Amino acid sequence: MKNFAYVRANSVEDAISRTTNDRQAMFIAGGTNLVDRLKVFLDEPSQLVDVSRLEMKQIERTNEGGLKIGALVTNTDLANHIEVRRNYPLLSRAILAGASQQIRNMATVGGNLMQRTRCPYYYDTAFPCNKRQLNTGCPAATGINRIHAILGASESCVAVNPSDMSVAMAALDATVEVQGMQGKREIPLIDFHRLPGNTPDRDTNLEPGELITAVILPPLSFAKSGVYLKLRDRASYAFALVSVATALEVAGEQIKNARVALGGVAHKPWRAMEAEEFLIGKAANNKSNFEQAAEIALKDAKTLAHNGFKVELSKRAIRRALTVSAQGGGIV
Ligand code: SF4
Repeated sequence: MKNFAYVRANSVEDAISRTTNDRQAMFIAGGTNLVDRLKVFLDEPSQLVDVSRLEMKQIERTNEGGLKIGALVTNTDLANHIEVRRNYPLLSRAILAGASQQIRNMATVGGNLMQRTRCPYYYDTAFPCNKRQLNTGCPAATGINRIHAILGASESCVAVNPSDMSVAMAALDATVEVQGMQGKREIPLIDFHRLPGNTPDRDTNLEPGELITAVILPPLSFAKSGVYLKLRDRASYAFALVSVATALEVAGEQIKNARVALGGVAHKPWRAMEAEEFLIGKAANNKSNFEQAAEIALKDAKTLAHNGFKVELSKRAIRRALTVSAQGGGIV
């Protein structure tokens, strides 16, 4: 084991300057994924910069009527926040579908966005892995790949992003606020995570030293129709094989606006924009429209030896979630 220093950042600027000046340094907050990785030597930082005591724990109304969520808000506090439950119910349900109560008490919004894939080959250092070390190979591509990607994968990596929260935030048009030595910038959540391409070692578009400071949810008038449907091997404490976040704006029987995002199928939360566009102007009481939207969302799916079932599972999940969204939303 490589020894590392532990330092407690006393400001955002202090945290950023430590990790910018030392590329081997890492931020830690709740540590619910990072500590697991440290224990099996996947990450060997020179120093851990503890940001958990910084002032990023507020959930505030924005001037536009949305919410600004501090990066250190815990998953529990976000899921139970009255404005989230009232105005963005699918986000609350997505968070509560993830992990266990104890983990949600520790896990933070920023850390949730930064968690890495649970591909078993990545965690088992007896195997090579392009995400751990570039150009060593991807044993999952030809191995046991039941949980792996069907959309947006590459020859280098077929891993999936494990976050439930991110899928809901992708559907809600969230923006990630980050701060680095050059100041603050905002990244649309759907552009925050990356597809693997030939650089699967990079999960996000963060620059070295940048720290997530908040997530901003814009007001979305039809977010109350939101549905989060998670399908997994166990009823609790399991990652999604497939998940779907949907919301529909319906006037009369006509769909005016739609959101469809998928989890468990790609290296990033997967927003099905073509399917959304197809739905606009269609009748909300005609199930064949939801069937066609599901076909469009999965038309580019590419399967591996063991994950072909995810295509039909995704289509059925989309149809089901859209049907419930068309009825005003709720628990599926
Ligand atoms: Fe590594 Fe990605 Fe292949 Fe898993 S899918 S073994 S994380 S390169």
